Amino acid sequence: MKIGFIGLGIMGKPMALNLIKAGCSLCVYDIVPAAVQALQEAGAQAADSPRVVAECCDLILTMLPNSPHVKEVLLGQNGVLEGMRPGTLIVDMSSIDPTASVELEKEVAKKGGDMLDAPVSGGEPKAIDATLSFMCGGKPEAFERAKPILEKMGASVVLVGGIGSGNMAKLANQIMVASNIAAVSEALTLAAKAGVSPDSVYRAVRGGLAGSTVLDAKAPMMLQRNFAPGFRIELHIKDLTNAMNAAQAVSMELPLTELVLGMMKHLREEGKEKLDHSALVQYYEELGNVEVKPL
Ligand code: NAD
Repeated sequence: MKIGFIGLGIMGKPMALNLIKAGCSLCVYDIVPAAVQALQEAGAQAADSPRVVAECCDLILTMLPNSPHVKEVLLGQNGVLEGMRPGTLIVDMSSIDPTASVELEKEVAKKGGDMLDAPVSGGEPKAIDATLSFMCGGKPEAFERAKPILEKMGASVVLVGGIGSGNMAKLANQIMVASNIAAVSEALTLAAKAGVSPDSVYRAVRGGLAGSTVLDAKAPMMLQRNFAPGFRIELHIKDLTNAMNAAQAVSMELPLTELVLGMMKHLREEGKEKLDHSALVQYYEELGNVEVKPL
């Protein structure tokens, strides 16, 4: 069986490489030719459009930035729907608006195909290690069909509910991650401003209740002044905006999310949207006129 893989960026590239390492035969596409070439060198077949990918694969994985990109790849000219056969399963691993997943599944069903939304958590390191967490939405039979393939890229593959619920879980995940990064930033900036080593504070608290995967991933980046992405601020703005829209649809307020989204937008105004989201600490450093670094 040949597997299609569309979107070979920070996440998609290592995920596709892990499938090749696990013995899968891949047909790949990205709008960036260098990204396709890197996979071709690792043994994948290259396609020059999503339509061509669909013509040769019954299972197609997508890992794209946001809803408009997924719509373009599936529904656009030379898109997947132009080339796909009935029975094709599309697994969209991008983090997108849950309502877009629901709309897209309807279009895929009209062509006799099926669709899962299966966004991930874990970032680039877990994409490289094949230990991502997949949160899936769709029919149980579609989930069972995709699960063995997703398990080659992840350590946890969970069916949350119907189509769109994978992306709803991802929005919940992104709220927790954003708020945690903001809390880490606020806490370490206070320590630095008060003249206590933020590095020592990090080492002192990481084994206690405040310890978290986010703390261990992001505090070292802040302390080493390494803001290379990782997960770009502009992508987190996209996720938190989708969360705000989802909340509005059910008449709910998200005070924490709204606050952190505002901080991230402030950094975007300063031209920092391509930095890793750990650069949220710079918002606090501006407020405190101090830098978080080992004393
Ligand atoms: P990225 O921007 O590095 O990669 C996206 C890839 O899609 C790029 O290679 C781009 O050229 C390609 N692309 C864009 N439009 C295309 C089109 N029309 N046709 C074909 N290819 C196209 O982004 P990423 O960091 O890999 O993230 C991908 C998704 O995964 C996003 O939804 C993101 O929110 C999510 N995600 C990212 C991380 C992370 O840490 N980077 C973690 C979890 C989830």
